[in-house]
Amino acid sequence: MSPINQYKRQLGIWLEREPDEVFLFWKARVAFYAILKAMDVGAGDEVILPAYTCVVVPNAVLYLGATPIYVDIDPDTYNLDVSKLEDAITEKTKVIVCQNTYGLAPDLNAITAIARQRGIYTVEDSAHGMGGRYQGKPNGLMTDAAFFSTQWNKAFSTGIGGFAVANSPEIKTELKRLESEATTPSFLNVTNLQLLYWVRQYLVIDFTYYSFVGVYRFLSKHNLVIGSSNGEEITSIQQPAGYFKSFSWVQARKGIKTLLKLDDILENRKQAASEYSKLLASYGKKIQDTREHEHSYLQYPVLVSNRSEFVKLAVSERVPVGDWFNSPLHPVQENLASWGLDRANFPVSDYVSKHVVNLSTELSKVPRTLEFIKTNIDRII
Ligand SMILES: *Cc1c(COP(=O)(O)O)cnc(C)c1O
Repeated sequence: MSPINQYKRQLGIWLEREPDEVFLFWKARVAFYAILKAMDVGAGDEVILPAYTCVVVPNAVLYLGATPIYVDIDPDTYNLDVSKLEDAITEKTKVIVCQNTYGLAPDLNAITAIARQRGIYTVEDSAHGMGGRYQGKPNGLMTDAAFFSTQWNKAFSTGIGGFAVANSPEIKTELKRLESEATTPSFLNVTNLQLLYWVRQYLVIDFTYYSFVGVYRFLSKHNLVIGSSNGEEITSIQQPAGYFKSFSWVQARKGIKTLLKLDDILENRKQAASEYSKLLASYGKKIQDTREHEHSYLQYPVLVSNRSEFVKLAVSERVPVGDWFNSPLHPVQENLASWGLDRANFPVSDYVSKHVVNLSTELSKVPRTLEFIKTNIDRII
């Protein structure tokens, strides 16, 4: 069996789908773009997004000539606030996107009910959510379609990569067609990726933490590292050349191997999260709600009063505290207006993006982080 088909089969088991119902793309953003295309989104259409996302999400909407409409977030889910959703809906609304931010499940029942009543599609951005569940179902199955990322920092990695699933036969047929029409990655793309696998393996650099974040962002901004956003994607709303690419067998081979570890990784993350929750609860701090969901806890977010001070302290004590999503349109800091977002209209997102830190859910990092949190509990909101 080819690596591509084997990988699809493995993903299908996780997602309770047949292998030919999993559609692979070069990156998750490309999978999202394909989903929007399959839903026939174009000029004149509006796509509702949480006002706290990765800039590549509104980019895909803009590349198709449609308009992103943002909804402020609920600080408990880090996803769009359902009570503010209806106000954002117009007769032009074609799609509502909800998001597994940090691996947390959104209020899917409420969101899909509102959408269904009005004949609007729903898409789950499960870029952070692979392996999580909502009311017993794998993330990504409650909405009309969903996409997942296997970029370095996501649930499991193929370096870069993404995939899509859908519920309706029509959308599946379109996705299948689009998957086959995407440009095959060039020899250079694939070789570059293989080189990065090698570098990552031998230089165990944790790109998520410390000053590496800065180095990594600098490199990716200048297109010196494949695997995150290229410069154009964070400075403009123009679609870069060669954007619509397919998944390569090199990524599939990587995915086959890394996916085997996902079960253990998820177990560890859940254990890490429960330790954080226990500690935070004992001090009366906010914890993540786990009533209906099995969150996948890619990261454990907490809000702190003074982030730069908190992160500086953590760095000096070698505690892995990340600052993911420190902007409403991660990782863009300025000129959000180009993407149609004005911070002033989304006070919760603005606040969260200025106060959030992410605790590592890698078990080996938990004891030190717990100690650090205990010592600095007064800095946590
Ligand atoms: C990373 C990310 C994406 C895009 O994933 P890629 O595979 O890098 O394209 C989309 N949405 C969110 C919320 C993300 O964090």
